[in-house]
Amino acid sequence: MTPKEVLEFAKEQGAKEVDIRFMDYPGLWQHFSVPLCELSEDSFEEGFGFDGSSIRGWQPINASDMLVVPDASTALMDPFFASPTLVLIGDIKDPITGEPYSRDPRNVAKKAEAYLKSTGIGDTAFIGPEAEFFIFDNVQFESASNVSYYEVDSVEGIWNTARPEEPNLGYKPRHKQGYFPVPPMDKFQDLRSEMMLTLEQLGIAVECQHHEVATAGQAEIDMRFAPLLKMADQLMWFKYVLKNVAYKAGHTVTFMPKPLYGDNGTGMHTHVSIWKDGQPLFAGDKYAGVSDTALYAIGGILKHCKALCAFTNPTTNSYKRLVPGYEAPVNLAYSSRNRSASVRIPMYSSSPKAKRIEFRTPDPSCNGYLAFSAILMAVLDGIQNKIDPGQPLDKDIYSLPPEELANIPSAPGSLQEALAALKEDHDFLLKGDVFTQDAIEMWINYKTENEVDAVNLRPHPHEFMLYYDI
Ligand code: GLU
Ligand code: MG
Ligand code: MG
Repeated sequence: MTPKEVLEFAKEQGAKEVDIRFMDYPGLWQHFSVPLCELSEDSFEEGFGFDGSSIRGWQPINASDMLVVPDASTALMDPFFASPTLVLIGDIKDPITGEPYSRDPRNVAKKAEAYLKSTGIGDTAFIGPEAEFFIFDNVQFESASNVSYYEVDSVEGIWNTARPEEPNLGYKPRHKQGYFPVPPMDKFQDLRSEMMLTLEQLGIAVECQHHEVATAGQAEIDMRFAPLLKMADQLMWFKYVLKNVAYKAGHTVTFMPKPLYGDNGTGMHTHVSIWKDGQPLFAGDKYAGVSDTALYAIGGILKHCKALCAFTNPTTNSYKRLVPGYEAPVNLAYSSRNRSASVRIPMYSSSPKAKRIEFRTPDPSCNGYLAFSAILMAVLDGIQNKIDPGQPLDKDIYSLPPEELANIPSAPGSLQEALAALKEDHDFLLKGDVFTQDAIEMWINYKTENEVDAVNLRPHPHEFMLYYDI
């Protein structure tokens, strides 16, 4: 839509307000609303002012004025607000220079798409994230931090939103067997349907919704692949819709990667393919029906995986998921069907158009704009430098003997390790000015101070169990 068309669309839809949205550096949508009469065609050039110093990871107080400039192509009606409201996602600009802000995640994603084109390798990067999540009761934070360290059996009793079953009426999915018996074991069919249909109503194509493996209300809703920036925008809508549908029904949705000890965590396997002039570049006659280009792309991901994790798995909790035994990939290897490898080549379809690589390490605590951009930059680095991914690993990595395992590199063990890897290895992100040095340093500092240190310095509830009576 053009700005003029957006104004017409808003009138047609009976909008009374416009809600302007953008995301902070860690990845949470921010918003403010203006009456519809405040939106004119000029607003799409001039933007709206706000205080950038109150946004996590952004401006100091002495240089706090920022502009958010709505992007007309993002116009949608909000499905939840009582007052009919047009939503526009905006880009952040510096009001003095008029330049796009280098710490605006959406700006990074735009530059990543532009860089892809400038390399001549391809014109479109398609991204398909499989975001998983948990549906829990509307619990208090205090109780959450206490229960999540108990043994899994008691956790199920406390956490399972199927609480009306208490005492147990016999229809709880067995431990790690939530994938995927029909109701009454599956308690969330209707809730997931409402989530899926709300997304569809917004024009966000969904392929499937289902219960996931973990016992207590784990779910997955898969969006159909889309170009990188569009998918990053859609991921924000996705989280917004799921949280709001759940909240209306008295539940909460969390994208925390490992909310439950002893059960499967929450991944966001990310499918990637690159196309040029309407042709897929990843299909070919090499291993598992992929091209050399795809193998080099895998080489790039594996080479930079530890640094990538600082963006694709950017929370301290992310590393509680990346452990053996829960379908989460720990080792940096690739394979066609092996779900214990960090890169998989799905074999569901023989169509060249469906050929893509599935990077299984990411989780949905990431900022989609930054994570997808970083993945694309690793893929491009692999293709540009013809990085050999080595031999595929088709064995179950979880059951390999220690001597074989010793030769396979593994994902970082902590956010601290991932940030240290990013500090050492980020030249591939700086190409085309996609990530700036400032944006990377800010990320490392923000994450270290506000998350790594903040978690490390606090006594852990489980330490009381281990040491209180020592
Ligand atoms: N929940 C698993 C993970 O953490 C993935 C399960 C699957 O979809 O294969 O990656
Ligand atoms: Mg899944
Ligand atoms: Mg998958």
